[in-house]
Amino acid sequence: MADPRLVLATHNAHKVSELRAILLAPEVGLPLDADQIVGASQFGVPEPKEDGVTFEANALIKARALCEATGLPAIADDSGLAVDVLGGAPGIFSARWAGAHGDDAANLDLLLAQLSDIAAEHRAARFVCAAALVTPDGVEHVERGTLDGTLLFERAGNGGFGYDPILRPDGEDRSCAQLSADEKNAISHRGKAFRLLAPHIAELFA
Ligand code: IMP
Repeated sequence: MADPRLVLATHNAHKVSELRAILLAPEVGLPLDADQIVGASQFGVPEPKEDGVTFEANALIKARALCEATGLPAIADDSGLAVDVLGGAPGIFSARWAGAHGDDAANLDLLLAQLSDIAAEHRAARFVCAAALVTPDGVEHVERGTLDGTLLFERAGNGGFGYDPILRPDGEDRSCAQLSADEKNAISHRGKAFRLLAPHIAELFA
C-alpha cells in the first residue's frame, strides 16, 4: 500500500486514543503502529451530514466521506444508547436527546426524568456501536457491538462520558463511569464492534 495509514473519522483526540488502544491491543494482532492510525483533524475535511436512520448507515456515511476526501482507508463509528422501554430511543439521537448536540448533562437529566417511574426490572438498555471500514477500492464493511445493562436511578461515578454514569453493565455492580478505560474497552460496544472489524483491516495491511 502506497500510504500505509488508516484514518479515523473523529476530530476528538480522546476518541483517537481510545480507538488506538482498542485496535492496537496485542490480542487483536493488527500489524499496525500507533502512528499509522491517524485522526481526521490533520486533513481538514468537512464533516458530512449524518442523515442515516441507523447506526450502520451513519457510520458508513462518515467513513465513505472521509475515504473520498483523503484517499486513505477510513474508519468511522456511530454509537448511542438504546433503552428498551423507550422502544430503542434515544438511539441515533443520543448525542442531542435534550436538544443541543453533545450536552451530556442535559441528555442524562432528561432521560432520568423520563424514566423516573420505571422500576428496576424494566430499565434494560444497551450501548450500541456500528463501526465501518471503507477503502479507496470500494471495499466496505460494517460491524455492530453492544454493551447490555440496566439504567440506574441516579448517576454513579465520575469517569467516562455521555450516559456512562447511569448504565450498569450486566454482571457488574458498578456503572460504566466507575470502570477504568481498560475495563470498559474490554466489554464496550465500541471495543466489540472494532474487534469485529479488525480482521478486515488486517487484510488491507497484510
Ligand atoms: P457518537 O457516536 O460519538 O455520535 O455518540 C453519540 C452519543 O451516544 C454520545 O454523545 C453519547 O451521549 C452516547 N454514547 C455513545 N457511546 C457511549 C459510551 O460509551 N458511553 C456513554 N455514552 C455513549
